[in-house]
Amino acid sequence: MILTMATSEAPSTPSNFIRQIIDKDLDSGKHSNIVTRFPPEPNGYLHVGHAKSICLNFGIAQSYQGVCNLRFDDTNPEKENPEYIESIRNDVEWLGFQWPGEPKFASNYFDQLHGYAIELIKAGKAYVCELTPDEARQYRGNLKEPGKDSPYRNRSVEENLDLFDRMKNGEFEEGKMVLRAKIDMASPNMNMRDPIIYRIRFAEHHQTGDKWCVYPMYDFTHPISDALEGITHSLCTLEFEDHRPLYDWLLDNISIECHPQQIEFARLQLNYTVTSKRKLKQLVDEGHVTAWNDPRMPTISGMRRRGYTPAAIRRFCDSIGVAKANSTVDVAMLEAAIRDDLNDNAPRAMCVLNPLKITIQNYPEGQVEQLSAPLHPQKEMGERTLPFTREVFIDKDDFREEANKKFKRLVLGKEVRLRNAYVIRADEVIKDADGEITEIICTHDPDTLGKNPEDGRKVKGVIHWVSATESLPAEVRLYDRLFLDENPDGNKEKSFLELINPEALTVVKTARVEPSVAEGQPEQGYQFEREGYFCIDSKDSQPDQLVLNKTIGLRDTWAKIGD
Ligand code: ATP
Ligand code: MG
Repeated sequence: MILTMATSEAPSTPSNFIRQIIDKDLDSGKHSNIVTRFPPEPNGYLHVGHAKSICLNFGIAQSYQGVCNLRFDDTNPEKENPEYIESIRNDVEWLGFQWPGEPKFASNYFDQLHGYAIELIKAGKAYVCELTPDEARQYRGNLKEPGKDSPYRNRSVEENLDLFDRMKNGEFEEGKMVLRAKIDMASPNMNMRDPIIYRIRFAEHHQTGDKWCVYPMYDFTHPISDALEGITHSLCTLEFEDHRPLYDWLLDNISIECHPQQIEFARLQLNYTVTSKRKLKQLVDEGHVTAWNDPRMPTISGMRRRGYTPAAIRRFCDSIGVAKANSTVDVAMLEAAIRDDLNDNAPRAMCVLNPLKITIQNYPEGQVEQLSAPLHPQKEMGERTLPFTREVFIDKDDFREEANKKFKRLVLGKEVRLRNAYVIRADEVIKDADGEITEIICTHDPDTLGKNPEDGRKVKGVIHWVSATESLPAEVRLYDRLFLDENPDGNKEKSFLELINPEALTVVKTARVEPSVAEGQPEQGYQFEREGYFCIDSKDSQPDQLVLNKTIGLRDTWAKIGD
């Protein structure tokens, strides 16, 4: 199943500058087999930005019949944990991608990395430095001024080997010493000013336990992990462009054959959206949302729970392309991708959010007529049974005592069609002591099932409904964008927390759905006719107490606000 989706979509994946580089490398014989990797740090859940990187890396591997490794870049044990590892695996698989064998971990290479650090020391290309963090900052210089050599820079190889070994054996405190690559303190590129490659951390690691108290830095770990895995093209986001000289320097200065090519591409930035794990974590930790997979979150698991499908996310990632310059993508494109997908693929059903009771006075009491309705108006999806009874619910908004011709719903004294059922006429309105409408007495025309009235009466309006006695109660969670501001991450005056949309979640407890929805599995999506796209909540929904999430409306309502 995964394969068919992939192959059927592959031809539509547009080319991009990265694919052009790969094509050239295959033509020239530089490579015959393409190997990429997706290297998340397990310090949070994946978000929509990661989806772009996943689709790019795994997508390339698929279309060139290569492989893409899933590798956890786990060099910061304090911030990482197995829950994140688990969620990342699930998200990548759910998106429809497979890695060869077991996932890989940078921590699998700690022994080798340690060996390469010793190699650098022996070659006089790394040294143990004892500058305090403050001193090191001063020595580092800045963009205008070159740095100064550390007084520890010219230690002998023997002394460096001894100190590094003692660092590893836990003889020194955290922060007391670091291992630095010996490159060039005057380099215009700050990353080349003797970067730290190992530091002391007395932290238990989720994979290696307490084996290590020195941990390699990301910039040291990443190129070597890539090379050890035989990666051909190491795709990363633009902020690593200035790290590329270090990536190359390291691989040129250790005894490793493989030298992957690092290629940078623009991060996905979406308006109205925050895509930083740190900020998303803050939303969870401070209770602004219920969890990482809260349907308001731009995480892959949040989108999944909200009702997004893997195909829609993949299509979105393909459609935004891969560029060398940063730009912001309109979140409406993501919303359109899921709307289009569900329009094509989601079964139809009816749900009444704010029920108003209709009694059809000429319909027999106690009768339940099993009507049949198509699951999809265009596609061959089959039929569903729709029970029709003397009492039905329509939405309060679909009735008016008086209205002009534009109101194509139910008006007192006029007719309307109940979707997939009969034409009814509103005869009488019943109100309570406060003047609130509590019930409408109607008459149905029994000769209008699946056909227009015989005498040529024109009934234009069609409204949705459910049986009052056969429908099921449901809690419906209506979602809107999580932020009110287009650029929540970059607002100069306000923190992103102040820009949260207080109406991003509205809970409707009164809803009633047609019984076919009870048969849906968790995450099943529907188009509730005239209301929008919804899905069964995977966490809170029970067969006898349905909880439904609104995925997206039938139309883009945000676009109008700007007009
Ligand atoms: P964050 O800033 O959210 O923590 P990160 O880059 O630190 O993101 P990683 O776990 O290191 O998170 O990311 C794994 C991979 O996903 C990296 O190759 C990274 O470049 C890529 N990635 C992260 N965010 C985006 C994004 N917004 N668009 C495209 N790729 C991204
Ligand atoms: Mg990172």
